[in-house]
Amino acid sequence: MSQPTDVPVYEGSCQCGAVRFTARTGLEAPFQCNCSRCRRLNAVMHSVPEDDFTLLSGNETLSIYTFNSHTIAHQFCTQCGIQPFAAGSDREGNTIHVINVHCLKEPRYDKNAISHFNGADF
Ligand SMILES: [Zn+2]
Repeated sequence: MSQPTDVPVYEGSCQCGAVRFTARTGLEAPFQCNCSRCRRLNAVMHSVPEDDFTLLSGNETLSIYTFNSHTIAHQFCTQCGIQPFAAGSDREGNTIHVINVHCLKEPRYDKNAISHFNGADF
């Protein structure tokens, strides 16, 4: 068991740097999704609770795209087009941010731990 102080805080950004954020997470449950959007992005995602996510800059530069059930706010930078994260809810209704691991600075995670989420049939 790790203590809360052991959890790293990652810096993340879009490509151009307008959107910057931090995520406090151990990246223990990365996943890839096969929905019509994630398949195109080829992103590795990871969910973090709202309290562990901080948007540092770029709120005015972000645009939101939704589709299907419109329950997930896919947020992308209107300058460079990169989607650093999405916002949604977990099964209990708590707000979560689903971060694009590839947008983090030097993410450390086990690629063999990447699970596959069947978002295409969601
Ligand atoms: Zn950008």
